[in-house]
Amino acid sequence: MKTYSLIIGGMTVPTYTHMEVRNPASGGIVGMAPKATHEHLDLAVRTAEKAFEAWSILSSEQRADACHAVAQKIEDNAEDLAQLITREQGKPLNGNGSRWEIGGAIAWARHTASLDMPIEVLQDNNDGKVELLRKPLGVVGSITPWNYPVMIAIWHILPAIRTGNTVVIKPSPFTPLSTIRLVELMNEVLPPGVVNCVTGEDFLGAAMSSHKSIRKIVFTGSCATGQNIMKTAARTMKRLTLEMGGNDAGIVLPDVIPEQIVENLFWGAFLNGGQTCAALKRLYVHETVYEDVCTKLADYAKRIQVGDGLLEDNLLGPVQNKKQLDKVVELVEQAKRDGGRVLIGGKSEHKGPGYFYPVTLVADLKNGSRLVDEEQFGPVLPIIKYSDLDEAIALANDNPNGLGGSVWTRDLKKGAEIASRMECGSVWINKHGAIQPNAPFGGTNTSGFGVEFATEGLKEFTDIQVIFS
Ligand code: NAD
Repeated sequence: MKTYSLIIGGMTVPTYTHMEVRNPASGGIVGMAPKATHEHLDLAVRTAEKAFEAWSILSSEQRADACHAVAQKIEDNAEDLAQLITREQGKPLNGNGSRWEIGGAIAWARHTASLDMPIEVLQDNNDGKVELLRKPLGVVGSITPWNYPVMIAIWHILPAIRTGNTVVIKPSPFTPLSTIRLVELMNEVLPPGVVNCVTGEDFLGAAMSSHKSIRKIVFTGSCATGQNIMKTAARTMKRLTLEMGGNDAGIVLPDVIPEQIVENLFWGAFLNGGQTCAALKRLYVHETVYEDVCTKLADYAKRIQVGDGLLEDNLLGPVQNKKQLDKVVELVEQAKRDGGRVLIGGKSEHKGPGYFYPVTLVADLKNGSRLVDEEQFGPVLPIIKYSDLDEAIALANDNPNGLGGSVWTRDLKKGAEIASRMECGSVWINKHGAIQPNAPFGGTNTSGFGVEFATEGLKEFTDIQVIFS
């Protein structure tokens, strides 16, 4: 069993105390993660501040090359990183699991490397010249969750360094090891101090949010934590990008052919065992196709093998941690009391270690049931019958979250029109959650603010300066 260290200034920095990181499939210890103190955090921030001086004045091409080198490093170490993600996070190596996550990390890193934000000339005439520059902010603090530890780290770090900032990243205490390894690999191709990693307990995140020398926090995680960060960050006027929880609705129109949509419906909801911010978390189905969609979804779900992610046949793994499993169990039990009809799953038959819960479909629920109203973040999908489309749109919008949504129809024009009435940051037609590096992604309402990806995402890591000459 390996004992890991912090990565500060390109060096491994040992700590006096550690925390066990356990495999959610077996309960076995994957490794010992360092527990950083306030002093370690201060050291990491000072180091990143120092590195900013040289990094921020490199040319755009030099930083693009460095970002491409990061992508290549990940590619060269893809299988080792994937194995580590599976062992600490639980998702399978196969299917849309950890190898897929690494593939996404490489694709995002390459695309972000290829972006640029040249100076914009706003005016150039007899009255003078006006130019708009995008300047890096300084030290960026990245706080990540446990569901996609490497891909989300890339979403935070790459646009930050591409635009000339330096970074201190703090991963979730549940999945710190793959982030430490990622940052170690990055440091093989980046100047020391450009990307630093501190791991430990939640207080580090709060300390980063109030730290006077961190200029921006990019955060992905729960709504409650995002709100705490916003409060704590106010005093230092930090820039914030907050990607928080979602409770995405899908609306199935009467014209669908159920067998043509079930595969995309299933994976839209159950990607990473439902532990995906923009997963389909509530499904509204028109009464004329309701029973057919329910039956075909349940038939599809029966074919999916759940188990230890290290075994190549499994396509879904366990829930990542006990707290999340308890929440899933609580919501399903309440849904049964609310009159929900369990089509498949609904009770864990799993004996022994590991946080396994079966793929679960609960039909006949309504808004007002906790499983519909709250984010389950696990392998469960509530299905709601509707008869009137306007009512379905109103029910879909009747939620404080606003991350993603989807419309399922053969009429793409009508689908686009319904999409525009959904109150959320992204809407997909006949698929769900299919984010891509060249399209901005972010939430509305309590799902947060700011966007990631594409040039819009890069801009979030800069301040504007306008020069009049
Ligand atoms: P979480 O909010 O509990 O933890 C996220 C991170 O915040 C961790 O690194 C944690 O240590 C840190 N943290 C905890 N308390 C803090 C504080 N007071 N100040 C600063 N940082 C603190 O979330 P989680 O349980 O790791 O992740 C699950 C949640 O994340 C779900 O709600 C999910 O929807 C959301 N999520 C959103 C997106 C998105 O892009 N919108 C992506 C993935 C996950």
